[in-house]
Amino acid sequence: MSHAPDFQPKPRRRLTLEEYVDGVLAGDRVTLSRAITLLESARADHQELAQEIISRCLPSAGRSFRLGVTGVPGVGKSTFIEAFGKLALERGGFTGAPASRLAVLAIDPSSARTHGSILGDKTRMVELSRDERAFIRPSPAVDSLGGVARKTRETIILCEAAGYDTIFIETVGVGQSETAVHSMSDFFLLLMLSGAGDELQGIKRGIMEMADGLAITKADGDNAARARSAAIEYRTALHLFPPAASGQSVNVLTCSAQSGAGLEDLRASLAEFYQATRANGSFARRREEQARFWFYESLQDQLKRDFFADSAVQLRLAELEKSVRAGAVSPFQAAHQLIELYSRSKTK
Ligand code: GDP
Repeated sequence: MSHAPDFQPKPRRRLTLEEYVDGVLAGDRVTLSRAITLLESARADHQELAQEIISRCLPSAGRSFRLGVTGVPGVGKSTFIEAFGKLALERGGFTGAPASRLAVLAIDPSSARTHGSILGDKTRMVELSRDERAFIRPSPAVDSLGGVARKTRETIILCEAAGYDTIFIETVGVGQSETAVHSMSDFFLLLMLSGAGDELQGIKRGIMEMADGLAITKADGDNAARARSAAIEYRTALHLFPPAASGQSVNVLTCSAQSGAGLEDLRASLAEFYQATRANGSFARRREEQARFWFYESLQDQLKRDFFADSAVQLRLAELEKSVRAGAVSPFQAAHQLIELYSRSKTK
């Protein structure tokens, strides 16, 4: 019987804080990946180190254009990101950086279950994934959408510190994840299909209101004319919406990731948006507002975790829940009691 030689992967030496920070700032992809893995880890010591790395990287972050991309499954998001990402790299990105680098991140609300379905599939974005100017990272697989979003937000900081000046954040157009992506993008792009006569149906109005721009995808072959008429209908519909906070009007374009038609127009309109919003101050205001939003999100998140981790709370929680279910205590009173207990246990 022959034995295969034992394969023992070398245990990777843990990097020091300095090594992480220096590696990320030098744009080293392996260190960047490892820093993100650390950030995604649930271990308390990993979290602590990751937070220190982020703080040290923060001064070098922010100099980027963050494009959020959403649309229903099948609209063509990954095909679009592949084609548009390549174009952005060729044309030098949006911020005027001398040599552009692109990071593609994702927020997938189902990633906790599927371990990162968006971008997880290696067959997607084949060309970009081979391009050394591009860094592709699937959605973190964390327990809640809030957690996934926070980690993606922190990953943006690391990528920017590593010199990525163009950040794409993809999400599936179902549910709350658009709000999360909107809360971290400078431009929120909604990809839409041209339907057969039902262009204005099935659009979630809230998502349309968040969009800075719309692109009707797959505008090629027989579909090109349908895409153009869908664009006209959406432009008309958008007139009924309140003006965007950016001060920029919401453009509706058509494009094809397959033929490349319309992609350059879209690139030019995003570059123009970047210039205009930087000049009128709305770019900075939006980022400030987002930083404020994430501050409160983190506060709530950390308070919640600390609360449920408290031993006094843990002791009483199940019992109180039972009383609430039985109608013996009101939900409000039960919550109040538990909070009192928590504050007492904190001040002890
Ligand atoms: P996602 O689920 O939104 O990421 O969509 P995909 O990028 O996976 O694309 C869904 C399907 O649409 C695939 O079969 C693609 O080949 C097709 N598709 C994507 N972009 C285009 C396009 O520009 N033109 C045409 N004709 N088909 C496209």
